[in-house]
Amino acid sequence: MQIEQGPIRPPSEASSLLIRITRNCPWNKCAFCKTYKGKQFSRRPVEDILRDIDTVAQVAKQVRQISWNKGWGSRVNSTVVSEAGSRYGYLHYHVAQWLYYGGKNVFLQDANSLVLKTDDLVRIIQYLRTALPSVERITTYARANTVARKSVDELRELREAGLARMHMGMESGSDIVLKMIQKGITAKQLIEAAQKVKAAGISLCWYIMPGLGGREHSREHALETAAVINQGNPDYLRFRTLSVLKRTPLYEMMSSGAFTPLDEDEVIREQRLLLESLEGVTTTVVSDHMLNLLQELGGTLPGDRDKMLGIIDRYLGMTPEEKANYQLGRRAGIYAIMDDMQNQNRFLYIEKILKRIKNPEELKLELAKMRSQFM
Ligand code: SF4
Repeated sequence: MQIEQGPIRPPSEASSLLIRITRNCPWNKCAFCKTYKGKQFSRRPVEDILRDIDTVAQVAKQVRQISWNKGWGSRVNSTVVSEAGSRYGYLHYHVAQWLYYGGKNVFLQDANSLVLKTDDLVRIIQYLRTALPSVERITTYARANTVARKSVDELRELREAGLARMHMGMESGSDIVLKMIQKGITAKQLIEAAQKVKAAGISLCWYIMPGLGGREHSREHALETAAVINQGNPDYLRFRTLSVLKRTPLYEMMSSGAFTPLDEDEVIREQRLLLESLEGVTTTVVSDHMLNLLQELGGTLPGDRDKMLGIIDRYLGMTPEEKANYQLGRRAGIYAIMDDMQNQNRFLYIEKILKRIKNPEELKLELAKMRSQFM
Protein backbone atom coordinates (compact mmCIF):
# COMPACT_ATOMS: atom_id res chain seq x y z
CA MET A 1 0.00 0.00 0.00
CA GLN A 2 1.23 3.46 -0.88
CA ILE A 3 0.19 7.09 -0.84
CA GLU A 4 1.88 10.09 -2.40
CA GLN A 5 3.68 12.52 -0.08
CA GLY A 6 5.63 15.73 -0.65
CA PRO A 7 9.09 16.60 0.68
CA ILE A 8 8.42 19.11 3.48
CA ARG A 9 6.16 20.21 6.33
CA PRO A 10 6.55 22.89 9.02
CA PRO A 11 8.61 21.84 12.10
CA SER A 12 5.48 22.12 14.25
CA GLU A 13 3.73 19.49 12.10
CA ALA A 14 6.30 16.78 12.86
CA SER A 15 3.65 14.51 14.35
CA SER A 16 0.98 15.22 11.71
CA LEU A 17 -0.26 12.87 9.02
CA LEU A 18 0.90 14.21 5.64
CA ILE A 19 -1.61 14.20 2.79
CA ARG A 20 -0.45 15.59 -0.53
CA ILE A 21 -3.12 17.49 -2.43
CA THR A 22 -0.95 19.46 -4.88
CA ARG A 23 2.56 18.75 -6.16
CA ASN A 24 5.38 21.26 -5.69
CA CYS A 25 5.01 25.06 -5.81
CA PRO A 26 2.91 27.04 -8.32
CA TRP A 27 5.21 30.07 -7.87
CA ASN A 28 8.64 28.46 -7.49
CA LYS A 29 10.60 31.69 -7.97
CA CYS A 30 11.74 32.78 -4.49
CA ALA A 31 15.45 33.58 -4.69
CA PHE A 32 16.41 31.75 -1.47
CA CYS A 33 14.36 28.58 -2.01
CA LYS A 34 15.28 25.42 -3.87
CA THR A 35 12.80 23.00 -2.35
CA TYR A 36 10.87 22.50 -5.59
CA LYS A 37 13.33 23.88 -8.15
CA GLY A 38 13.07 22.09 -11.49
CA LYS A 39 9.81 20.42 -10.46
CA GLN A 40 6.54 21.08 -12.22
CA PHE A 41 3.54 22.22 -10.21
CA SER A 42 0.30 20.22 -10.57
CA ARG A 43 -3.01 19.74 -8.82
CA ARG A 44 -3.63 16.13 -7.88
CA PRO A 45 -7.00 14.76 -9.05
CA VAL A 46 -9.43 14.86 -6.12
CA GLU A 47 -10.29 11.16 -6.61
CA ASP A 48 -6.60 10.24 -6.16
CA ILE A 49 -6.44 12.21 -2.92
CA LEU A 50 -9.59 10.53 -1.58
CA ARG A 51 -8.07 7.16 -2.48
CA ASP A 52 -4.95 8.07 -0.45
CA ILE A 53 -7.16 8.93 2.52
CA ASP A 54 -8.91 5.54 2.23
CA THR A 55 -5.49 3.87 2.14
CA VAL A 56 -4.47 5.66 5.34
CA ALA A 57 -7.72 4.48 6.98
CA GLN A 58 -6.91 0.86 6.03
CA VAL A 59 -3.32 1.19 7.26
CA ALA A 60 -4.55 2.69 10.55
CA LYS A 61 -6.83 -0.32 10.97
CA GLN A 62 -3.91 -2.73 10.43
CA VAL A 63 -1.72 -0.82 12.88
CA ARG A 64 -4.43 -0.91 15.55
CA GLN A 65 -4.82 -4.63 14.89
CA ILE A 66 -1.14 -5.16 15.74
CA SER A 67 -1.83 -3.48 19.05
CA TRP A 68 -4.97 -5.56 19.73
CA ASN A 69 -3.06 -8.76 18.90
CA LYS A 70 -0.54 -7.89 21.57
CA GLY A 71 -3.30 -7.31 24.12
CA TRP A 72 -2.80 -3.54 24.29
CA GLY A 73 -6.20 -2.55 22.93
CA SER A 74 -6.31 0.24 20.35
CA ARG A 75 -3.54 2.24 22.06
CA VAL A 76 -0.56 2.51 19.70
CA ASN A 77 2.73 2.53 21.61
CA SER A 78 6.33 2.78 20.45
CA THR A 79 6.68 -1.01 20.10
CA VAL A 80 3.69 -1.05 17.73
CA VAL A 81 5.25 1.84 15.73
CA SER A 82 8.52 -0.09 15.28
CA GLU A 83 6.77 -3.33 14.45
CA ALA A 84 4.40 -1.69 11.93
CA GLY A 85 7.42 -0.11 10.19
CA SER A 86 9.61 -3.20 10.13
CA ARG A 87 6.79 -5.52 9.07
CA TYR A 88 5.13 -3.36 6.39
CA GLY A 89 7.40 -0.41 5.53
CA TYR A 90 7.38 3.38 5.59
CA LEU A 91 3.66 4.17 5.21
CA HIS A 92 2.72 1.93 8.15
CA TYR A 93 5.50 3.49 10.19
CA HIS A 94 4.26 7.02 9.37
CA VAL A 95 0.62 6.20 10.15
CA ALA A 96 1.57 4.31 13.34
CA GLN A 97 3.63 7.25 14.53
CA TRP A 98 0.75 9.60 13.75
CA LEU A 99 -1.57 7.37 15.82
CA TYR A 100 1.04 7.19 18.59
CA TYR A 101 0.78 11.01 18.84
CA GLY A 102 -3.02 10.83 19.02
CA GLY A 103 -4.00 10.69 15.32
CA LYS A 104 -5.41 14.21 15.59
CA ASN A 105 -3.38 16.43 13.24
CA VAL A 106 -3.22 16.40 9.45
CA PHE A 107 -1.05 18.62 7.26
CA LEU A 108 -2.04 19.15 3.61
CA GLN A 109 0.96 19.39 1.24
CA ASP A 110 2.62 20.98 -0.83
CA ALA A 111 3.43 24.70 -1.00
CA ASN A 112 0.05 26.35 -1.62
CA SER A 113 -3.08 24.25 -1.12
CA LEU A 114 -5.31 27.30 -1.47
CA VAL A 115 -4.84 27.24 -5.26
CA LEU A 116 -7.46 24.49 -5.30
CA LYS A 117 -11.07 25.47 -5.92
CA THR A 118 -12.68 26.08 -2.53
CA ASP A 119 -15.31 23.39 -3.23
CA ASP A 120 -12.62 20.78 -3.92
CA LEU A 121 -10.70 21.69 -0.80
CA VAL A 122 -13.86 21.54 1.32
CA ARG A 123 -14.66 18.12 -0.15
CA ILE A 124 -11.16 16.80 0.67
CA ILE A 125 -11.26 18.14 4.23
CA GLN A 126 -14.75 16.76 4.89
CA TYR A 127 -13.75 13.37 3.49
CA LEU A 128 -10.66 13.32 5.72
CA ARG A 129 -12.71 13.94 8.85
CA THR A 130 -15.25 11.26 7.94
CA ALA A 131 -12.71 8.59 6.94
CA LEU A 132 -10.39 9.35 9.87
CA PRO A 133 -12.69 10.30 12.76
CA SER A 134 -9.82 10.92 15.22
CA VAL A 135 -8.75 14.00 13.17
CA GLU A 136 -9.27 17.27 15.04
CA ARG A 137 -6.96 19.75 13.36
CA ILE A 138 -6.15 20.20 9.65
CA THR A 139 -3.52 22.69 8.56
CA THR A 140 -1.74 23.69 5.35
CA TYR A 141 0.76 26.04 3.67
CA ALA A 142 -0.77 28.94 1.73
CA ARG A 143 0.56 31.90 -0.22
CA ALA A 144 -0.71 35.33 0.81
CA ASN A 145 -1.72 36.50 -2.67
CA THR A 146 -3.77 33.33 -3.26
CA VAL A 147 -5.51 33.75 0.09
CA ALA A 148 -6.13 37.44 -0.56
CA ARG A 149 -8.05 36.45 -3.74
CA LYS A 150 -10.48 34.28 -1.75
CA SER A 151 -13.51 35.86 -0.09
CA VAL A 152 -13.97 35.73 3.68
CA ASP A 153 -17.05 33.54 3.04
CA GLU A 154 -14.93 31.00 1.14
CA LEU A 155 -12.35 30.95 3.92
CA ARG A 156 -15.14 30.56 6.48
CA GLU A 157 -16.43 27.55 4.51
CA LEU A 158 -12.96 26.03 4.79
CA ARG A 159 -12.84 26.71 8.52
CA GLU A 160 -16.30 25.17 9.01
CA ALA A 161 -15.16 22.10 7.06
CA GLY A 162 -12.20 21.78 9.45
CA LEU A 163 -9.24 23.84 8.19
CA ALA A 164 -7.78 25.08 11.47
CA ARG A 165 -4.53 26.84 10.54
CA MET A 166 -2.63 28.32 7.60
CA HIS A 167 1.17 28.39 7.63
CA MET A 168 2.24 31.30 5.44
CA GLY A 169 5.74 32.22 4.28
CA MET A 170 5.77 35.96 4.88
CA GLU A 171 9.58 36.15 4.94
CA SER A 172 9.56 39.98 5.09
CA GLY A 173 7.14 42.89 5.32
CA SER A 174 9.42 45.12 3.27
CA ASP A 175 8.34 45.53 -0.35
CA ILE A 176 11.98 46.21 -1.28
CA VAL A 177 13.08 42.87 0.20
CA LEU A 178 10.03 40.99 -1.12
CA LYS A 179 10.83 42.28 -4.61
CA MET A 180 14.55 41.57 -4.29
CA ILE A 181 13.90 37.92 -3.39
CA GLN A 182 11.10 37.58 -5.98
CA LYS A 183 8.52 36.52 -3.43
CA GLY A 184 5.70 37.56 -5.74
CA ILE A 185 3.67 39.10 -2.92
CA THR A 186 3.44 42.57 -1.39
CA ALA A 187 3.10 43.89 2.15
CA LYS A 188 -0.45 45.00 1.27
CA GLN A 189 -1.41 41.46 0.19
CA LEU A 190 0.08 40.05 3.38
CA ILE A 191 -2.07 42.33 5.50
CA GLU A 192 -5.18 41.67 3.42
CA ALA A 193 -4.64 37.90 3.64
CA ALA A 194 -4.12 38.08 7.41
CA GLN A 195 -7.27 40.10 7.94
CA LYS A 196 -9.36 37.69 5.87
CA VAL A 197 -7.93 34.56 7.50
CA LYS A 198 -8.56 35.96 10.95
CA ALA A 199 -12.07 37.17 10.04
CA ALA A 200 -12.82 33.60 8.91
CA GLY A 201 -11.70 32.26 12.31
CA ILE A 202 -8.67 30.36 10.93
CA SER A 203 -5.44 30.46 12.93
CA LEU A 204 -2.57 32.16 11.08
CA CYS A 205 1.12 31.37 11.39
CA TRP A 206 3.57 33.68 9.62
CA TYR A 207 7.17 32.65 8.92
CA ILE A 208 9.73 35.39 8.81
CA MET A 209 13.30 35.12 7.73
CA PRO A 210 15.87 37.09 9.74
CA GLY A 211 18.81 38.11 7.56
CA LEU A 212 16.83 38.14 4.31
CA GLY A 213 17.49 41.82 3.58
CA GLY A 214 21.23 41.28 3.85
CA ARG A 215 23.38 44.16 5.11
CA GLU A 216 21.91 46.32 2.36
CA HIS A 217 18.31 46.21 3.70
CA SER A 218 18.53 44.83 7.22
CA ARG A 219 16.97 47.88 8.86
CA GLU A 220 14.01 48.16 6.46
CA HIS A 221 13.55 44.40 6.70
CA ALA A 222 13.20 44.59 10.50
CA LEU A 223 11.11 47.76 10.72
CA GLU A 224 8.77 47.10 7.80
CA THR A 225 8.25 43.48 8.81
CA ALA A 226 7.30 44.69 12.29
CA ALA A 227 4.89 47.23 10.73
CA VAL A 228 3.13 44.48 8.73
CA ILE A 229 2.96 42.21 11.79
CA ASN A 230 1.45 45.10 13.76
CA GLN A 231 -1.37 45.29 11.21
CA GLY A 232 -1.76 41.57 10.55
CA ASN A 233 -1.47 40.42 14.19
CA PRO A 234 -0.94 36.74 13.31
CA ASP A 235 -1.60 34.11 15.96
CA TYR A 236 1.93 32.76 15.53
CA LEU A 237 5.15 34.20 14.27
CA ARG A 238 7.93 31.76 13.52
CA PHE A 239 11.52 32.76 12.90
CA ARG A 240 13.43 30.78 10.29
CA THR A 241 16.84 32.39 9.84
CA LEU A 242 18.19 32.70 6.30
CA SER A 243 20.77 30.25 5.07
CA VAL A 244 22.01 31.08 1.57
CA LEU A 245 21.99 27.83 -0.39
CA LYS A 246 24.17 27.01 -3.36
CA ARG A 247 22.44 26.89 -6.75
CA THR A 248 19.87 29.53 -5.78
CA PRO A 249 19.50 33.03 -7.29
CA LEU A 250 20.33 34.49 -3.87
CA TYR A 251 23.63 32.61 -3.87
CA GLU A 252 24.44 34.17 -7.24
CA MET A 253 23.55 37.61 -5.87
CA MET A 254 25.85 36.96 -2.94
CA SER A 255 28.67 35.82 -5.22
CA SER A 256 28.33 38.93 -7.41
CA GLY A 257 28.38 41.24 -4.37
CA ALA A 258 24.75 42.36 -4.77
CA PHE A 259 23.74 40.69 -1.48
CA THR A 260 25.86 40.70 1.68
CA PRO A 261 24.78 38.12 4.25
CA LEU A 262 24.59 39.12 7.91
CA ASP A 263 26.82 37.45 10.47
CA GLU A 264 25.30 35.72 13.51
CA ASP A 265 25.38 38.86 15.71
CA GLU A 266 23.88 41.07 13.03
CA VAL A 267 20.98 38.63 12.63
CA ILE A 268 20.32 38.72 16.37
CA ARG A 269 20.44 42.54 16.43
CA GLU A 270 17.98 42.58 13.53
CA GLN A 271 15.65 40.29 15.46
CA ARG A 272 15.92 42.64 18.44
CA LEU A 273 14.96 45.64 16.32
CA LEU A 274 11.98 43.76 14.93
CA LEU A 275 10.75 42.57 18.34
CA GLU A 276 11.12 45.97 19.97
CA SER A 277 9.13 47.53 17.08
CA LEU A 278 6.08 45.30 17.60
CA GLU A 279 3.13 47.13 19.09
CA GLY A 280 -0.39 46.09 20.01
CA VAL A 281 -0.04 42.48 18.86
CA THR A 282 -1.12 39.37 20.72
CA THR A 283 1.13 37.02 18.77
CA THR A 284 2.99 33.96 20.03
CA VAL A 285 6.61 34.01 18.87
CA VAL A 286 8.34 30.70 18.19
CA SER A 287 11.92 29.96 17.11
CA ASP A 288 11.65 26.21 16.62
CA HIS A 289 13.67 25.95 13.39
CA MET A 290 17.19 24.51 13.64
CA LEU A 291 18.51 27.49 11.68
CA ASN A 292 17.76 29.92 14.52
CA LEU A 293 20.74 30.66 16.72
CA LEU A 294 18.49 31.43 19.70
CA GLN A 295 15.98 28.61 19.61
CA GLU A 296 14.80 29.60 23.08
CA LEU A 297 13.57 32.98 21.77
CA GLY A 298 9.84 32.59 22.27
CA GLY A 299 6.84 33.83 24.20
CA THR A 300 3.50 35.53 23.80
CA LEU A 301 3.23 39.23 23.18
CA PRO A 302 2.75 41.66 24.74
CA GLY A 303 3.44 39.98 28.12
CA ASP A 304 6.70 38.22 27.20
CA ARG A 305 8.29 41.11 25.30
CA ASP A 306 10.87 41.94 28.01
CA LYS A 307 11.65 38.27 28.56
CA MET A 308 12.40 37.85 24.83
CA LEU A 309 14.50 41.02 24.65
CA GLY A 310 16.34 39.73 27.74
CA ILE A 311 17.20 36.46 25.94
CA ILE A 312 18.65 38.47 23.06
CA ASP A 313 20.57 40.79 25.40
CA ARG A 314 22.00 37.83 27.29
CA TYR A 315 23.47 36.56 24.03
CA LEU A 316 24.67 39.99 22.87
CA GLY A 317 26.30 40.52 26.29
CA MET A 318 28.58 37.49 25.94
CA THR A 319 32.31 37.98 25.33
CA PRO A 320 33.50 37.29 21.74
CA GLU A 321 35.02 34.01 22.98
CA GLU A 322 31.77 32.90 24.62
CA LYS A 323 29.81 33.84 21.51
CA ALA A 324 32.17 31.80 19.32
CA ASN A 325 31.74 28.81 21.64
CA TYR A 326 27.95 29.15 21.68
CA GLN A 327 27.64 29.67 17.90
CA LEU A 328 29.72 26.61 17.11
CA GLY A 329 28.06 24.50 19.81
CA ARG A 330 24.64 25.46 18.56
CA ARG A 331 25.43 24.85 14.91
CA ALA A 332 27.07 21.52 15.75
CA GLY A 333 23.90 20.47 17.60
CA ILE A 334 25.72 20.28 20.96
CA TYR A 335 23.71 23.13 22.49
CA ALA A 336 19.99 23.80 22.17
CA ILE A 337 19.90 26.80 24.50
CA MET A 338 22.45 29.13 26.11
CA ASP A 339 22.24 27.36 29.49
CA ASP A 340 23.73 24.26 27.81
CA MET A 341 27.08 26.07 27.92
CA GLN A 342 27.09 25.50 31.70
CA ASN A 343 27.72 21.82 31.02
CA GLN A 344 31.52 21.68 31.36
CA ASN A 345 31.95 18.56 29.20
CA ARG A 346 30.08 20.08 26.31
CA PHE A 347 31.72 23.47 26.71
CA LEU A 348 35.24 21.99 26.74
CA TYR A 349 34.45 19.75 23.78
CA ILE A 350 33.52 22.84 21.72
CA GLU A 351 36.60 24.71 22.99
CA LYS A 352 38.75 21.87 21.66
CA ILE A 353 37.16 22.16 18.19
CA LEU A 354 37.49 25.96 18.27
CA LYS A 355 41.27 25.63 18.77
CA ARG A 356 41.48 24.01 15.33
CA ILE A 357 39.77 27.02 13.70
CA LYS A 358 42.38 29.61 12.85
CA ASN A 359 40.51 32.93 12.92
CA PRO A 360 37.03 34.56 13.06
CA GLU A 361 36.72 34.54 9.25
CA GLU A 362 37.29 30.79 9.13
CA LEU A 363 34.73 30.36 11.92
CA LYS A 364 32.18 32.37 9.89
CA LEU A 365 32.71 30.08 6.89
CA GLU A 366 32.38 26.97 9.04
CA LEU A 367 29.16 28.26 10.60
CA ALA A 368 27.67 29.10 7.18
CA LYS A 369 28.58 25.60 5.94
CA MET A 370 26.94 24.00 8.99
CA ARG A 371 23.79 26.11 8.57
CA SER A 372 23.39 25.06 4.96
CA GLN A 373 23.47 21.41 6.07
CA PHE A 374 20.24 21.90 8.04
CA MET A 375 18.32 22.42 4.79
S1 SF4 B 1 6.46 30.11 -2.37
FE1 SF4 B 1 7.48 28.84 -0.83
S2 SF4 B 1 7.90 26.90 -1.83
FE2 SF4 B 1 7.40 28.37 -3.44
S3 SF4 B 1 9.37 29.15 -4.13
FE3 SF4 B 1 8.64 30.55 -2.55
S4 SF4 B 1 9.50 29.77 -0.61
FE4 SF4 B 1 9.73 28.14 -2.15
